[in-house]
Amino acid sequence: MQCPYCSGDSSVTETRVTADGLRRRRGCTVCKRRFTTYEKLGAPSLKVTKRDGSVETFDGDKLFRALQRVAAHRDVGDDVLLRIARDIEAKLVDDARKSVAWSDIVQLALARLGNVDAVAERRLAANYADDAGALRLDNAAPPAVSPQLGLPLPLPDDDA
Ligand SMILES: [Zn+2]
Repeated sequence: MQCPYCSGDSSVTETRVTADGLRRRRGCTVCKRRFTTYEKLGAPSLKVTKRDGSVETFDGDKLFRALQRVAAHRDVGDDVLLRIARDIEAKLVDDARKSVAWSDIVQLALARLGNVDAVAERRLAANYADDAGALRLDNAAPPAVSPQLGLPLPLPDDDA
């Protein structure tokens, strides 16, 4: 895209997915000015190929919910998980991919989740490794609730 100031070439420095579309921050490679462009998202075009060969439209909310599942009972805020999901979506859009394999999305998610919570990262990796076929982002069972630490144990009833 041409720089609005000097018509030089610009490069994208950051892409954000917003409710309305994409917001890109760009920097002119000639005059070094920065500017921002907005792009409406068109019809969903990014396809996800699962291991079983089925194809579905990429759904950032679904990715977010999958992250919520692996981060369940961990001290990771939804805002962090949402940022990870949006960041992955922005990267896929930036790469101008027409289709992407679930395994690639998992790799992207693992890298980001690993910076936040190692347990959630391992859960996601386990969910993926356990499955011989399609990644179980769709139907992964919530992790078992860990024993509730900190609650007083019932006292033995000596009078019984
Ligand atoms: Zn310029």
